[in-house]
Amino acid sequence: MLVNLDEKLEPILTDVLRRNAGEEEFHQAVREVLESLGRVIAKHPDYADDALIERICEPERQIIFRIPWVDDKGQVHINRGFRVQFNSALGPYKGGIRFHPSVNLGIIKFLGFEQTFKNALTGMPIGGGKGGSDFNPRDRSDGEIMRFCQSFMTELYRHLGEYTDVPAGDIGVGGREIGYLFGQYKRITNRYEAGVLTGKGLVYGGSRARREATGYGAVYFVERMLATIGRDFSGKRAVVSGSGNVAIYTMEKIRQFGGTVIACSDSNGYVIDEAGIDLDLVKEIKEVRRGRIADYAALKKGARYIEKGSIWEVPCDIAMPSATQNELTGKDAAALIKNGVIAVGEGANMPSTPEAVRAFQEAGVLFAPGKAANAGGVATSALEMQQNASRDSWTFAETEERLAKIMHGIHDSCAATAEEYGAPGNYVLGANIAGFVRVAEAMRAMGVV
Ligand code: GLU
Repeated sequence: MLVNLDEKLEPILTDVLRRNAGEEEFHQAVREVLESLGRVIAKHPDYADDALIERICEPERQIIFRIPWVDDKGQVHINRGFRVQFNSALGPYKGGIRFHPSVNLGIIKFLGFEQTFKNALTGMPIGGGKGGSDFNPRDRSDGEIMRFCQSFMTELYRHLGEYTDVPAGDIGVGGREIGYLFGQYKRITNRYEAGVLTGKGLVYGGSRARREATGYGAVYFVERMLATIGRDFSGKRAVVSGSGNVAIYTMEKIRQFGGTVIACSDSNGYVIDEAGIDLDLVKEIKEVRRGRIADYAALKKGARYIEKGSIWEVPCDIAMPSATQNELTGKDAAALIKNGVIAVGEGANMPSTPEAVRAFQEAGVLFAPGKAANAGGVATSALEMQQNASRDSWTFAETEERLAKIMHGIHDSCAATAEEYGAPGNYVLGANIAGFVRVAEAMRAMGVV
């Protein structure tokens, strides 16, 4: 399976596979980046010097810890916690915390690796990291969530700091969890260090538009990408997988841009509502009641809930996978292509399998990879850090304007890089190379570290 790789890159991948045995998602993420780097090495062989690429593929630090906690019945549980501090060439490690039963070291490592390039693409001073736990928050009470977060932070706090490592949310970690984590950090350290976490509540140092930023940003990216072929969202049918924070604000911005979202999902199934998904209802179900998307069909006339099958079978012009990794397979891509999809924008991290990405590219479908398209969340986290550092607080409009500008900038730099390296329209290549070059330049300047 090493056919597409440059001869200098092949042994690097072989080594990554060997020393990270069984970590399939990490292998997948590294392989995709190395495939793109062949063209960089051909043009600038010196980027392969001093084991620079090997160093980029090896996390700077990996922390694994025990999280004991007590449930409401007095029973003791343990979970496993992770923080992979991947790369700090451009700034403190920055990236979310994921609470989901699927979490393991390989998943956190792939996310940290992707985050490094994503953060570089934003042009902001943030390195890459990711953390999480195999804790399942489903059906846990507020008290249980709080005690779990406190136990998690009781170990993690010693590895954090506004100049060291700045976590945020991800799947299973939203405003409520960030509040508990911040409270415990403040208590243990006796420091009101606002810039140590992002995604905070507005009353204690959060940024306006941070909640909306990943979804809004992804739509800004796709809007810019559509403009390259003279199209836009207006009058288009869109399908958005997921119904968490990213999906909700992706749907909101698509609607603001004149599109209609006709389907969304959760891990149990999906809903179709030809009248357009009612966002207030989704927000009520997911954000307030913390319920399931099946409830939507029970509450909305004309909507259908489908428990089996794939949401990607629903015909649409624009698809925005915003749930989780590898949720969109080669078969799903074939269905979307057959139904005439024009553009795909990844709101989640690596939601399309390599087969799906290849199918979209071969069919000439515009394809925006997550590390570029979903960078608006972390970019707005960097804006939150900026506001914290200057003890300032900007309006929603000002913050969103900056977000839009950042997303357009990321789009343009991916497009220009793809063109420069002889693959116009290939945003995967453009994102990987543009992100790599920024990290590589900083690492080179700092010597062998
Ligand atoms: N978890 C988000 C991501 O995948 C946000 C990270 C952050 O804001 O630090 O980029």
